Order: sequence, then structure tokens, then C-alpha cells
Amino acid sequence: MGVLTPPLTPPRSHSLSKPAPVDLENYVTRTLRQQPMLPPLDRHNWYKELIWLHVAFIFLTPVIGFVGAYYTKLRWQTGLFSVFYYFVTGLGITAGYHRLWAHRCYNATRPLQYFLALAGAGAIQGSIKWWSRGHRAHHRYTDTELDPYNAHRGFYWSHIGWIMTKPRTRPGMADVGDLKNNDIVRWQHKYFTWCLLSMGFVLPSVVPWILWGDLQGGIVYAAILRLVFVHHSTFCVNSLAHWLGEAPFDDKHTPRDHLITALVTVGEGYHNFHHQFPMDYRNAIKWYQYDPTKWFIWCCQQAGLASHLKIFPTNEIRKGQLTMHLKKLRKIQQDLTWPESINELPVVTWANFQEQAATTPLILISGFIHDVTDFLDEHPGGRHHLTRYIGQDATAAFFGGVYDHSNAAHNLLAMKRVGVLHGGHPHALDDKSIPPSQKLRIAEYSELVINLPADEEPSLLSENLTRRRNVA
Ligand SMILES: [Zn+2]
Ligand SMILES: [Zn+2]
Repeated sequence: MGVLTPPLTPPRSHSLSKPAPVDLENYVTRTLRQQPMLPPLDRHNWYKELIWLHVAFIFLTPVIGFVGAYYTKLRWQTGLFSVFYYFVTGLGITAGYHRLWAHRCYNATRPLQYFLALAGAGAIQGSIKWWSRGHRAHHRYTDTELDPYNAHRGFYWSHIGWIMTKPRTRPGMADVGDLKNNDIVRWQHKYFTWCLLSMGFVLPSVVPWILWGDLQGGIVYAAILRLVFVHHSTFCVNSLAHWLGEAPFDDKHTPRDHLITALVTVGEGYHNFHHQFPMDYRNAIKWYQYDPTKWFIWCCQQAGLASHLKIFPTNEIRKGQLTMHLKKLRKIQQDLTWPESINELPVVTWANFQEQAATTPLILISGFIHDVTDFLDEHPGGRHHLTRYIGQDATAAFFGGVYDHSNAAHNLLAMKRVGVLHGGHPHALDDKSIPPSQKLRIAEYSELVINLPADEEPSLLSENLTRRRNVA
């Protein structure tokens, strides 16, 4: 770890020149303001805004597939091969297009790259170059109009709407220089039509034909219906994975983790993790979570076909998990009623405390004055243990002198605070002034910083309280 030598740090007393104001308009807002946008779809223009080739492809493949299946007997060999080929082409997308090329999660040897480039072409979702460019924009501008599959436009849009409609605006800028320099990616892009036809239709039809004489089954099940399932499997990563499940790592954007999504997307269902740590070759970090893409990449590594599998530091992953836990706990904390803060309570002199204790049952504990009116008859130790301390300091008695009260009793006591004694209390009692339930209180940073006049630096609440106490 680097160390700063002292001369680089100006003494705190030096006045620093004020930094230039930061332009807070974010890139997305500025880009959207500057670049043209097609009008929203409505009932007058929708047919002019659709990409009819894509519409036909997305709607005709399931129709042909299911009608074909009605007239075609499913042979077990063809059924098994169709499932196998679904995983082959699915992995072409998940392990190839997605984790290798879009996110560079690992290095692949040339034979593995050729295999993934061909398998991915069989899923018929565009070339690696086109797919990865859009996906990088999706990660960089998640949930904005610069995200091609912006989940805020709804489930339908992020699933298939964006494919069938002319893009409303250019996707956000994403660097694909590395892909342009990759000769296998260039080759696949150049010959994509041939790759698509051979891997998407010819190969899955020919294999069942040659091996067990089932050409029609090959066309219907292994080519067309398998394609429908692979399509919607990948589309679910943009729709279902941004809609269903939990956000255990961050909730700033829509990506979610869910087993169902993982099951239908060859393991891409831990999408909340993936959006936080996209360079990690895993989507699922626990051994029992379903991520066959991760297992495939790991096996390739064992076989010497893949290397440099990237794993995000566990320490940083756990920070995300902790933050989300704390958010949930803070919500619970906010739903509870807490004692008045020290800043809101009146500061009372000893003489004034004595005067008021003559008419109201007030007891001093840890520098706080408590009104026990409604507790005299509720006190489990008996009324007289309270009445004998009215107008007195019962700190020692409360904390073991007479009875060492429970944390719950201390929490309840704090709810009865009505004032602070002028002069505070000895420092040895500092930790006793905080109820046990508030010792691990969850506070946002902004709540810990008190804004002071412009020429003073903000100071932490604890410093401020110490100062108040010293002044008092
Ligand atoms: Zn996503
Ligand atoms: Zn991704």
C-alpha cells in the first residue's frame, strides 16, 4: 500500500484556495439533451417504428416451432440433443458473448474462442461486436435512456420491445476497441450470416438426420424450438433479472438476484451481483447456487483452454452485502421510537432541578433528568426504590449500587428523559449515558457531520458533543 510523505499534506490551519465548482450535470442528461431522440411510440406511428424483420423472426419462430411440433413425433435422441444444443448455444452467449467478450472476465485460447463464437452465432442474437457494444452500454448507463434495454421502460420493452423497435436514441458510448482488435471477433462479424445459418439451422438439423435419421425432428426441435428457448432465455437476463428477486449487493439500480432467473438463463440470474462486479467470471458466488456458465469456464480452465479467471476481492463484495444489511436494519431502527436527543433537551441547573423535583418525581441518572411519574407503580423493584431518589443522583444505584439493571431497563429509562443537568456528568460515565440499544446506532454520514460556519471545517458529532460538554 502506498504511503503519503508528510510534506504532501498541508497543515490543517493553512487556508486552502477553494476548488473550482463541479459541473454536476451528469453525462446521461447532457448526452440526451444533445443527441436526437425519436418520438415516443403511439397508436399512430407504431407500425412505422417497428423493425419488421425482427418482429417476424421473434413471432414466427415460436409459431412454426409449436405447429411443427404438433405434426412431428419427438424422438428421445432428438429431444436430448435439442436440450444439449440449447446449452451449447446458450453457453456461446453467456460464457462467450457475455462473460468473455463483453466483460473480459477471463482469457480464452483460440480454439475456445472459435467454439464460443460459433456456438453464440447459433443463438442468433447478432454478432459478438454488436451484442457486446450494446451490453457494455447497458452496464454503463443501466436504467437510463442510454441503456438499450432500459428496465424502467417496463418488462415488455426490456424483454423483446427494444429488439423489435427502432432504437429511440443512440446507445450510450462504450469502448469496444479491444473487440475491434480481436481477429476472431472480426471474422465472426464479417461472416456472421454464414455462421448464423450453419450453426442456427443447418448443424442442429443435420446432426439428428445423419446420426438417427430424424431430419424433420432436427429442424423442428433442435433448430427452431431450441432457438425460441435460447432467445427468451437471454431476453430474460434483460427483463426478468431486472425485475424479480432481491438486491443483496446494491439497490441503486434494478438488477436482482433470483434462482428462477438463474434456472432459465444458464446461470445469469444472480444479476444484482453481476452488475456490481461485472468483471467477476462468476454470477453466483456460493457453491450451491446454479451457475453452469461459471462451472463451464472453470472446467475450461482445468482443461487449459481458459486462464486468468477474474474474481472481485471478497472484502469489497462483503462491503456491499453489509451495506444492504445495514439499510434493512436502519429501516427497522427508523420504525422505532427513540429517546429525545441531547440537543433537544433543555439544560437545567442543579437548583432548578431541585425546585422542580419538589412537585414532579424527577431522578438524575448519568447526567440526564428523568420524569418517572408514570412509572412509580410500574417499577418492578417497588415504588419506594424510586421515591427515595427523587431530586437525587441515582446513577450509582441504577448501575449496580442497589441493583444492576438490565439493558432493557436502561433503554426504557432513556425514554423518560426530560432534561440535561447543567455541568454534565463525570467522563467515567460516558458510556452509561448512551442506552444499550443506541450504542450500535446506524447513522448516515450526513447525520454525523454538523455544518458549521463556512470558515470552519465540519466536525464529527462526537467532537461537537465534547465541546458542548466542556462549554457547559
Ligand atoms: Zn442487466
Ligand atoms: Zn453483463
